[in-house]
Amino acid sequence: MQYIPSIGLEVHVQLDTRTKMFCACMTDLDSEPNTNICPVCLGYPGALPVMNEEAVRLTVMTGLMLGCEINPRSKFDRKNYFYPDMPKNYQISQYDSPLCIGGGLDIEAGGVSKYVRLVRIHLEEDVAKSSHTGGISRIDFNRAGHPLMEIVTEPDISSPDEAMVFLSRLRQILLYGGISKCNLEDANMRCDVNCSVRPEGREELGVKTELKNMNTFKGVFHALEHEIERQKALLASGGAVAQETRRWNAELCVTEVMRSKEEAHDYRYLPDPDLVPVCLAAEQVEGWRECLPELPEKRIKRMTNQYGIPEYDAKVLADDKAIADFFEVAAGVSGNPKAVSNWMMTEMLRCLADSDSGIDSIMFAPEDLARLVELVDKGVLNSNSAKEVFAVMFEKGVKPDAAVENMGLKQVSDVGELEKMVDEALNKHADSVDDYRKGKKAALQFLVGQVMRMSKGKANPKMVQEMLKGKLDPT
Ligand code: ZN
Ligand code: MN
Repeated sequence: MQYIPSIGLEVHVQLDTRTKMFCACMTDLDSEPNTNICPVCLGYPGALPVMNEEAVRLTVMTGLMLGCEINPRSKFDRKNYFYPDMPKNYQISQYDSPLCIGGGLDIEAGGVSKYVRLVRIHLEEDVAKSSHTGGISRIDFNRAGHPLMEIVTEPDISSPDEAMVFLSRLRQILLYGGISKCNLEDANMRCDVNCSVRPEGREELGVKTELKNMNTFKGVFHALEHEIERQKALLASGGAVAQETRRWNAELCVTEVMRSKEEAHDYRYLPDPDLVPVCLAAEQVEGWRECLPELPEKRIKRMTNQYGIPEYDAKVLADDKAIADFFEVAAGVSGNPKAVSNWMMTEMLRCLADSDSGIDSIMFAPEDLARLVELVDKGVLNSNSAKEVFAVMFEKGVKPDAAVENMGLKQVSDVGELEKMVDEALNKHADSVDDYRKGKKAALQFLVGQVMRMSKGKANPKMVQEMLKGKLDPT
């Protein structure tokens, strides 16, 4: 019997606003615990929430980027529960009239393309952050009230791979839109995962379980792998899946029960009487639509045309908006965009990965990379020396011209100087000269190598090769 998984995601995204959802407290994550707080986000009785317009705009922008219908009139509701990290004992969220409805995202996984539909996107507030270590529980209210956007999908995803692709594409779009920092380590983006399996040929979805609060894509992937297998085995052995909330235990690599359906919360939603409905005029939404950023697909096409680079390069570069921005500045001043792209796709991305750092902490400017390319193109540097220059640019932020000067790497292109070295190589290695003349063409590369060594890598390899050829092939 074959089983088909149906997976739905509820992705919570912390919006990149300066202040909180319903008060003027800062959202700064680096502050000392419990310093960005006020009566509103501490849930004092009688404190009144005031809506953050920027959070509404960012949510609508997300909806527009994901093809949602924008609800002209939405409202906020109170979602009641008892939690230690929410002192008012309700979360302000949106129940039956969210800001964005429908929409979806194209994904491609394992050679299959599909459209994952969205149910809705709504806006709510984050809760405080509690931690439990060494028998002590601590709570930090800095996070309480941070604007939180929730993106809910239909159960259109059918494998852990597709879930990963969906999440990465979503993250990429949110970063392009400047919606959120989407930093997984800071839990800017976390998700609940619904999962069920059904026998092939049956239309009706199976009983689903929910995995709560996954904050790494890898965690989602592994948890889903295990949960799908667990459900399949249950059904195959004649058992039934219980509707319950489970958690992923990364150490034991199992999903385990958190609470069953019987313990499910009744949230007793009711409209928040302290907040007015959000009414969005069509002109307002259209104004925002006009300000939508260029999304990855469009950018890949444009970069391919504008800079004459292969589509493959454009895809690699545009994968990360900050990388693509860096490339465009460098390519714009360089006049040799393909060379800029090569440097970025090889040396730069490798160095960034090796040093485990992002492009935002890079020590040199796009203009410096363009200059390095120019130095190579003008024959001042050969490719080996250029790599040495790149290394000091990357490690110390040294300007390329200064590096060439300091390191004495200027390429030797002086004919007289080169000729001396070429003659010396020919005299020293008469056997290789014989080999070459007997038809062993590889001997030429050996001789080029000898000259490069004599020059400590600074000789212009093209000129050396031509000179050697000229002397070896008497015309
Ligand atoms: Zn506050
Ligand atoms: Mn939520």
